[in-house]
Amino acid sequence: LGKFNKTYKGTKVGIMGGTFDPIHSAHLATAEFIRDKYKLDKIIFIPSGNPPHKKNTIVNKYDRYEMVKLATMSNEDFIVSDMEIIRDKRTYTIDTLRDMKKEYDSIDIYFITGADAICDIETWKNVEENFRLATFIAATRPGISKASTKEKINDLRKKYSANIIEVYVPSLDISSTYIREKLKNNGSIRYLVPEEVREYIECKKLYNNGD
Ligand code: ATP
Ligand code: MG
Repeated sequence: LGKFNKTYKGTKVGIMGGTFDPIHSAHLATAEFIRDKYKLDKIIFIPSGNPPHKKNTIVNKYDRYEMVKLATMSNEDFIVSDMEIIRDKRTYTIDTLRDMKKEYDSIDIYFITGADAICDIETWKNVEENFRLATFIAATRPGISKASTKEKINDLRKKYSANIIEVYVPSLDISSTYIREKLKNNGSIRYLVPEEVREYIECKKLYNNGD
């Protein structure tokens, strides 16, 4: 993991998992907001390789990984891991958390999710063990009801003794789906993604941009 110092005991590490198809400014703003608020030492972005719940990612995993690297390179507290990219099989969060714990047993893991992802978490493999291995930070997300998220989180706490922190994150109402739609219609995505990502998409003609 490059700059990440594995010998530092008690290191607080945030994990930002996602398909990142493509990565956008809300991913970055959410991660930075949480890093700052909870004084996390590093945020590791882990683009998923072959996500079980999204069988057809639009862009291949190498390009998605490359865009995450471009998007995060100016922040020295952001790291990108290829641990899910290099896996051939379906990639599950539980395997990633187990591998992290094996490699760095003394770190505290904070797994960051948007409200939609936390509400969905019971469809993930080995839900209960996920909650044992990490504290989850559930960030508000525009379009996802706060009341029903709260209710869901309380259910999860009771059912799995889950450690879940709810956090209000200043809203940015964008999604990768929205970015893909824009590109399909030759709309501008300037400032919705970092400039380096916009250039990469344009240069490689991803998402039918320019067709
Ligand atoms: P898609 O539209 O393709 O599902 P997405 O924008 O939801 O893309 P993902 O890669 O699916 O991006 O999400 C990765 C993580 O980032 C998830 O935990 C998701 O909830 C969170 N996330 C994405 N967009 C936002 C946002 N605008 N605000 C807060 N969290 C977000
Ligand atoms: Mg999503």
